[in-house]
Amino acid sequence: MQHFLLSSAARSLSIASVLRMTDADAFDVFKRVRFAANGGEAYCPRCGCAKVYTLAETPIRWKCAACRSKFSVTSGTIFHSRKLAIRDYLGVIALFCNGVKGTSALQMSRDMNINPKSAFVLLHKLREAMGATVHDGSELSGTVEVDGCYVGGTIRPENRKEDRPDRRGTENPRRRVVVVARERHGRAMAWVVAREADGVHPIRQHVASGTEVHADEAAGWNILHASYAMKRVNHSVEYKSEDGASTNWAESFFSRMRRSEMGIHHRISGGLLQAYADECAWRENNRRRSNGEHWNLITAASLAAPKSARWTGYWHRSAA
Ligand SMILES: [Zn+2]
Repeated sequence: MQHFLLSSAARSLSIASVLRMTDADAFDVFKRVRFAANGGEAYCPRCGCAKVYTLAETPIRWKCAACRSKFSVTSGTIFHSRKLAIRDYLGVIALFCNGVKGTSALQMSRDMNINPKSAFVLLHKLREAMGATVHDGSELSGTVEVDGCYVGGTIRPENRKEDRPDRRGTENPRRRVVVVARERHGRAMAWVVAREADGVHPIRQHVASGTEVHADEAAGWNILHASYAMKRVNHSVEYKSEDGASTNWAESFFSRMRRSEMGIHHRISGGLLQAYADECAWRENNRRRSNGEHWNLITAASLAAPKSARWTGYWHRSAA
């Protein structure tokens, strides 16, 4: 699957080529990407059976020969019960890829002529799918740098209704910490916690034992010495210590996060911070890939992600 997604055909995709697609072309892209594991041919998402009947319906649906369930190209994915044409989703993903610092829902709604609320939810569904590939259950290893940073420290002055539900369940929405663990030359994972020292728990869960961990002098990290070979850098004295200790990789993650916050999203409310942190981690982890590759990977992640519990029917619930 990875092979197709990163092929030269994939690299040539652009927003212009998306806009030229017919409905059948766009359907074909979704089908190829979603069913890449079966050479692009439909198989049952419920039981995995490859023997399916094509139903005489538009848009096309299939029926599984084994479990008899019916499914479409988007069944059970974040595009379940879709409202837009497939080509529009592909266009949204293409624009989203091209915004290296991220894309705001408002910009997307203008560019694609879709309702701002729909754009807001759609972009969060994409972030959720990207987040699932960042937090894929694997462990970081080798040399890993950890650091924490306060992000989204200001509360929104706006009184818009759509800003309010985000704060539910958050004790102190003003001050949240993003903690990142990042392999040198490798992958990053980030978590939103109340205090920097709370980052110890996810780090222990997701950084393999035997890893060399680099951290700054903050006392909260001392406890990690019990689990890892540690190197510490004292930032009040130096940025790279003589024993090679540094957290420059972790810090470059935060500079992306800050650029995104200041340039695009302006203020990020506490309840959405994890989603933006995951987007930043995904963009860092794939930074050497082309836009076309990004487009394929996000499309594939979206079609692999289950229907979103958080974002499906979001506006209906928040209006209630
Ligand atoms: Zn089946």
